[in-house]
Amino acid sequence: MSRLKNKVAIVTGASKGIGAAIAKNFGLEGAKVVVNYASSKEDADKVVKSITDNGGTAIAVQADVSNELDVTRLFEETKKAFGTLDILVNNAGIYQYQAIEELTIASFHNQFNTNVLGSLLAIQASLKSFGENGGNIINISSEASKSPLPTGSVYSATKAALDAITIALSKEFSGKNIRINSILPGVVETEGSHTAGFIGSDFETKLIATTPLGRTGQPDDIAKVAVFLASDDAGWITGEKISVSGGIYGV
Ligand code: NAP
Repeated sequence: MSRLKNKVAIVTGASKGIGAAIAKNFGLEGAKVVVNYASSKEDADKVVKSITDNGGTAIAVQADVSNELDVTRLFEETKKAFGTLDILVNNAGIYQYQAIEELTIASFHNQFNTNVLGSLLAIQASLKSFGENGGNIINISSEASKSPLPTGSVYSATKAALDAITIALSKEFSGKNIRINSILPGVVETEGSHTAGFIGSDFETKLIATTPLGRTGQPDDIAKVAVFLASDDAGWITGEKISVSGGIYGV
């Protein structure tokens, strides 16, 4: 299929999990993909190889999205490689579930700097890179933004902030042909959710039991929706928060 033929896309945090799946699906749909990562060069190179092995085009670019100079370099390297930009996916994110008594200022800043500031810096940079035809931004939020769980106060706040950014900017971009939407995944099996201890836990069992579609998500579940939002099929959708969570809303 070629729903994103010749589009240039940056996917932040694409060395693992949901970001890697989005990058690979974008590659399969004909996009030229910039696979961003923070520290996992080997994983990012594997994602690039998977895309090019399937006939696609991709490069890996290291950049910490919370660092303004890194973000500038990420967009400069994209321009150097592909000349323009059509799609930005703000996927890079961290989640640290902590009781309020255990909250540290460092953990607050880590989560807000990556999930919120990092997305804002990338959006700012994307505006200088989008061409005459406008652009397309997809923010990977979380179901936690509207159904926060105990110990997730800070993480949920970062994702609620991201949703507010989506709505505010959809209006700010009026007349510029720049679409911006949030995807709100439920629990998805990724390297990160394994490390966080969600996968295989009692919490996951309870979640599956109360999920209408009866399973934990897989990265491709999210990536397919990202492809839709990035494509012209979603040409009249902006400022939306789209849950992709097997129907778990409200738990
Ligand atoms: P993951 O497996 O932990 O992978 C995180 C990715 O983000 C990695 O590629 C990592 O790069 C990158 N990253 C982290 N900090 C970064 C930074 N400062 N700059 C650039 N890249 C950075 O994560 P995931 O579970 O796939 O989650 C991806 C996104 O989906 C996050 O925004 C998360 O909040 C959201 N989400 C996840 C779930 C879930 O259940 N998994 C549910 C709802 C929402 P390195 O490998 O180089 O460190």
